[in-house]
Amino acid sequence: MKFVVANIPDAGRALQISSNADWVLLAASEALGGEAISCEGELVLQPFGKNLRVTGLLSASANCFCHRCGESMVLNCESDLNLTYAPAGLSNSDTEVSLAASDLSTGWYDDGCIEIKTVIMESLALSVPSRVQCSDSSACDSRTAALLATAQSEEPAGHPAFSALKNF
Ligand SMILES: [Zn+2]
Repeated sequence: MKFVVANIPDAGRALQISSNADWVLLAASEALGGEAISCEGELVLQPFGKNLRVTGLLSASANCFCHRCGESMVLNCESDLNLTYAPAGLSNSDTEVSLAASDLSTGWYDDGCIEIKTVIMESLALSVPSRVQCSDSSACDSRTAALLATAQSEEPAGHPAFSALKNF
């Protein structure tokens, strides 16, 4: 879903986001790194100068795996959006706000159009924790301990070259 930024009214434009649309689920799946179950929310597109501010709230969930114990789990993400998009290809002096390269909440739009799928992907990707872990931490601990025990018992006893040294 694309919008021509110049056609968005100054008062802003609200957009309902719903998992009924396949492209919404696809965007959420890519951002969350697993098959999305739901993605709902509302976005407000508000132009200022040549730039576009996108605010709103998205909540999404996806099937994925715990990064620690590997158990399948449902990842829930809430994204409180406040993103700014500036036209691509303009130098800093042409844009009306100064954009720092380190500003994660600033993006670019191409050919005068904002692609909503990209907005959803970027906002959800920013809300994904760097380490996804199952919610039942004591069960996660025991599964992780079991995995570690297995890994240790399967570990080779050492390089054969070193076994000779044991005789010294
Ligand atoms: Zn876990």
